[in-house]
Formats: sequence, C-alpha cells, structure tokens
Amino acid sequence: MSRREFLVFGGGVAGALATVSAPGPVRRLLPPRRRFWFQKATTAVPTVCEMCLWRCGAVAQVAEGRLWKLDGHPENPKSNGRLCARGLGGVGELYDPDRLKKPLIRTGRRGEGQFRETNWDEALDVTAKALLKIKEDHGPEAVAFFGHYAGDKWFVDYLAPAFGSPNAAKPAVALCTTPREVASNLTFGRPVGGHEPVDWDHTRYIILLGTHIGENAHNTMMQQFAAARARGAKVVVVDPRFSTVASKADRYLPIKPGTDTALLLAWMHYIIVNQHYDAEYVARYTEGFEQLVEHVRPFTPEWAARITDLPAEIIADVAKDLCRYRPQAVLVPGRHVVWYGNDTQRMRALYLVNILLGNYGRRGGWYIAESPYVEEYPLQPFPIGSEAGGCAGPAASGPEASSDRKPRADGAGRTFLRGGVAIQELVEPMITGRPYPIKGLVSYAVNLFHTLPVRERTAEALRALDFHVAVDILPQEHTRWADVVLPECTYLERYDDLITVPHKTPFIALRQPVVEPMHDSRPGWWIARELGIRLGLEQYYPWKTIEEYLEQRLNSVGLTLEEMKKQGVSVQKGRPYLEDWEGKGSPFRTESKKIQIYCKELAEAGIDPLPRYEPTPEPPEGFFRLLYGRAPMHTFGRTQNNPVLTRLMRENEVWLNRAVAAAMRMTDGQRVMLVNQDGAKSGPVRVRVTARIRKDCVYLVHGFGHNAPGLRRAHGRGASDTALQTRYALDPISGGAGLRVNFVRLEPEA
Ligand code: SF4
Repeated sequence: MSRREFLVFGGGVAGALATVSAPGPVRRLLPPRRRFWFQKATTAVPTVCEMCLWRCGAVAQVAEGRLWKLDGHPENPKSNGRLCARGLGGVGELYDPDRLKKPLIRTGRRGEGQFRETNWDEALDVTAKALLKIKEDHGPEAVAFFGHYAGDKWFVDYLAPAFGSPNAAKPAVALCTTPREVASNLTFGRPVGGHEPVDWDHTRYIILLGTHIGENAHNTMMQQFAAARARGAKVVVVDPRFSTVASKADRYLPIKPGTDTALLLAWMHYIIVNQHYDAEYVARYTEGFEQLVEHVRPFTPEWAARITDLPAEIIADVAKDLCRYRPQAVLVPGRHVVWYGNDTQRMRALYLVNILLGNYGRRGGWYIAESPYVEEYPLQPFPIGSEAGGCAGPAASGPEASSDRKPRADGAGRTFLRGGVAIQELVEPMITGRPYPIKGLVSYAVNLFHTLPVRERTAEALRALDFHVAVDILPQEHTRWADVVLPECTYLERYDDLITVPHKTPFIALRQPVVEPMHDSRPGWWIARELGIRLGLEQYYPWKTIEEYLEQRLNSVGLTLEEMKKQGVSVQKGRPYLEDWEGKGSPFRTESKKIQIYCKELAEAGIDPLPRYEPTPEPPEGFFRLLYGRAPMHTFGRTQNNPVLTRLMRENEVWLNRAVAAAMRMTDGQRVMLVNQDGAKSGPVRVRVTARIRKDCVYLVHGFGHNAPGLRRAHGRGASDTALQTRYALDPISGGAGLRVNFVRLEPEA
C-alpha cells in the first residue's frame, strides 16, 4: 500500500485512535496547517454494520461528507458499544478504489470480463427484457434468484415471489446453518436463528464442538464468551485443530474428524445410565425419552473411544462435569454445521444432550429467543410465498395464488426431507434442464465461485444460462460471467429494510446512509424496485421511496423514522426463560407442544428417529482431510480486497502437522500447490508447520485465492478451499451440502 493509500484508507482508524490518545505535545508536532478529521465538527450517525451477518449497531463519525471512523453502538444488544476489526474496516469497503462504479453490459465471452459502461436506464431495460423473455418462454420459475446479506431481501424475498419464481436461495441456508435449523425445528418446533440463544451471562460450563469463537468473530458472542470465561466458566473444546478458542479451554479434545455423533451418543449413554439427567425437566417438557434410553444403551464411552480417538475416561469425565453444572451447562449449536452430510442427525444429537441437562429455556443454558414485534408493509399478496429461507431456517410458504405453480427445482421435499432451500441443487437444472430448465439468474452479493462447491459445474451453468445479472459492490469472479453488472452502493451509503433481531431482548435496528452514494452506484432497494416496475410488477411496489416504506413499518410500533435515525435501535422485552411462559402456553411449537426426543416425522419418512453414528470416508493414502474456517479480520470471500483488512491479513496459509511436515521434508513458509482427490488445484500457498492440527488433516482460512484481476489486492493471494471442494455429501434431511468430504495432497510449487 502506498503512503497516499494509507492516508486515505487507514486515516479513519488511525485518526480515531489519535482522538483518544494524541496528547498536546504530540499535536504540536503535527504539520501546522493540516486539519485531521477529529479537529473538524463531526456528526455521529447510527447505523448497522454489514461487514458480516451478525449486524452490530454502529455509529459513524462523519465530517464534511466523508466517513472517518466507525464505533460500536452502545445500546444495540449486538454490539454493546464495540465493533470487531472487520466492523472498523467498513471504512475500507466504502473507499475501496476497486469498487464497481458504473452499470456494465458484457461485450466479450462469458468469463472474459469484457464490458462496456452504460447508464442505469439501458442496464435495467436490457435486464428486464431478458427476464421477461425467459418468463414468456419457460415460465417464471426458469429465473433463479440468489442473494446474501441484508440487501438480498429486495431480490430473493421480495422480487422473486412477486415475479412468481420459487427458485430463490441464500447460501446461508444449505451451505451453512440448515441442519441445525431443521434439527431444531424437528426437536423444539423453533429455529435457532441468526443469533445463537446461548445464555452466556449465566452459564458455568461450555462445550464447543467445531465452533471457533474468536476466529469466527461474532462481536457480542466473543464479548460474552470472554466475560463468561473471566467469571470462571469452564470450557471444553472438541476439534481436530487446536483453534484459538482451544487455547482458552480447560480441556481440549482432538477428536477424529467425522466422529462427533459417536461422542454425543456416549455422553447421552453416560448421563442416562448414571441417572444424572434432569428427570423432572424430561418428564415435564419432553416426549420419547424411553426410546432414547434403549437407543443409547450400546454407546458406551469405550465404544466411542474406539471411534473418536479420545480416551474413554475423558469422555466420561466431561459427561460427569456436564451433569455437575447442569442446567448451567451448554453445548453451543455452532454456525457453519454442514460437515459430512449426516449433519441434521449430529445436530439432533447435540440438542438431545442439552435436553438431558434440562437447559433449554433455563438460566445458563439456552434462552428462548423471540422476534421483535413490528408489522410488515401492507402489500398486495405475491403470486407465491417467499421461499428463500435464511438463518432462521426455511421460510414458510405464503399464499399460493397460482394453482399451476411448479415446485422448487432443488429437490426440497423430494431428494431431501425438510430443509426448504438448497442453493447448490439449483445449479444442476441450469445445465441439464431437469426437473425443468433454469435459464436466468439474478445474483445479489453472492460470489458464486467462492461460495458454491464444484466450481467447474458453476462455470458450466453460467455458460449455459440465457441471461445473468449480477448486483454487487466489487468486480468479483462471478461478475465476469454476467451479461449485465449493476453496481450497488455499500451498506454505509444506503437504507435497507429494518433489521429485526430475535434475541433475549428482541430489537429493531435501522440501517441508514451515513454518506451519499459514491460513483454511479445505487441502493439495492432502488435497483430491485426499478427492475420490478420494468417487469410489470408495479402493483407490488405501492411505496415510492424507502423512507415511506420504513416510516409505515415503524409507525406500527409507535416509532417514527426521524426518531430511529437519531437512536438507531429500539429494544423490546423478551420472554427468555420457561418461567416467563408459565400460564401463557408452551414455547415449543411442535404438534404436541413438547420437545421431541423421538422424532415421529423422521420415523414416518423411514429415517432414523434417533441419531445414529455413520462413518465418513477416510482420506486416501497420501491425502489429508481438508478443513477450513475463518480469520477474525475477514468475512467469507468478501473482504480480502478491503484496503484496511488486507493490512491485517493478506493471504492464508495451509496448516500442516509438524511431524507430518518433517516426514514429508516440508518446511515452514514453503510454497506449495494443493491438489484434491479429483485433480482440482489451488495455490500456491505457504505451509504453516504446526503442532496445532491432527496428522490426518490440513487447514485453510476460507475466502482467499481470488483470481479476478479487478480485485487488485486480493488477486493471486493464497489458496481457495472452495476450489478444492469438488464433492459434497447431501444431507437427506435438510439438503445441507457437507463440505468436509474433500481430501488434498501437497505438491511443492513448480
Ligand atoms: S461482528 Fe464485526 S463485522 Fe460482524 S456485524 Fe459486528 S462489527 Fe460488523
């Protein structure tokens, strides 16, 4: 980074520190006529961070139309006055010189990245004409809508059902959380939701299975975990890799990958056989305990030890501790849970241990999260319901006005039972036309090549489409394959719909622009509305401006937009514990209003109604299982070009066990290529020789290895785990894509 760039992009953060720390003598050393932002009159504008999906409240410091610094909103329960490193790095996203600046129309072949600049009218007219042609020739379901992040609502939850397409999807479902949501709905009749309802404030014993708090940086989760640890809560980390959070743990269990369900079954066995479960809770709130008693009888700690590579006495010891601390003991659900294809059953097993501890709806266990009350904008009903799903699980189908409506093309209800959405399964119909053709794609903020497994298949699908429009901020890989590219403005330059958060204290937050949109970019709500009107869907857009839309919704809870623009957040009262529900019905929305230990719905579908351990394939000779995770300064494949965050981490490394490295004569820092079982390659990437990983695995931080030339900072840095995911295991219950079934070998760089 040049000095000039540093001043432009680092100035906000560095300046912010200077506000607090620069004493008088230092200030006297500054150049005489220079005025830093903190010497100017600044305005504090509350908004909501979008550097990841946690959506913390932020306060922007703005002077003379320029953003200089972001802080945490003190009253927003998701930020609690602080932002993480990525949140501070939002300044870099806004002022990234590589941003898309004008609407573009393709002039070269798909994938070549050759475009001409155009104006918004032409870009939207071309897009609408192409989508209408597909609708006329093949039906509305032949256009798929993919989206990620808050702004995707305007495209996948609003435009898609208004257009009449059921094929809307978000990667946050089948490539992330769907097994835990489906398992939770089957068991409790409630989703987990985007903010895991762990009662960190009161818990005394925490088990993290493959959950990387601190690397997977969710602001208040890190704050609350740290506070619980400081208060003396015990922590057990189960992971094939000694993660950052493992270094904070009382016990670290280096489990063999793919065997977690065996460990969970053994814990259930120990708790039941020794009668340490919460009998009163089980009798009052659950159904199917007797079947579980029989089911877990053979799964002793000794049985699990042979499978998991963990000593039987340690398995038993942890179970004993769980019972000692219950109900203030909790197994955390985790976020990215699509591992081996049997993930809904593993999540059910994790919930069953929690249930035996009697911790759901109890202090120190899981609280009961409820959504804040606020009414939707009164719209004319769409032809079909919104089906894109989200972190809260598959959305319920809405009114189906159209009787000849086709089902989703991804196999929901056919190739998998319960999850309503599987984005990766919508790629195949683009190529094969089965079960029916998908000919058009509207993609919003999803880097298809860093998100979907089986990259070759993604490229083939994009080649086969009649039309693809990409709405994005940056010239990411998939935008090079689009026919039209529409530059959206960043979250700091736009309104979005209200952020409504199910929480211990449910709340509503407002994202508002803190500066004017830069370049020729437009907000997502405006792009979707203009497109909708050109698609003949004007009746679904009775509101003319986003302010009018937000005002109407806020009025339903006695708020005004003017008030929310000043305060940023409005917190409501929740009912987090079972005692809050006494005499007010059951919080469990299952048919019987009780927790389903034994799952009748699975039994009726011919699936194990109680979880069972299934072995997963072992790495072939000379290969390692590819594990992947996050770094606290990056989000997905989205921030590797950010001028501020790149300074914190420029490229990833491949972790390799120290003894294995010695046997292979690999050295720390050596550059290698990674080659998977199907011959897919990624890299070059540096080797990190470490004792912090099992001998049968290697590990990459996700999101690196970009090859789009327009991403000048990210281009050619590190290796992409997604490029090496040429296989996945489909979860037959949720439709989740298990991604840890790929293996790689290391080749020295030629
Ligand atoms: S966790 Fe960090 S990146 Fe995510 S919303 Fe909060 S501050 Fe922003």
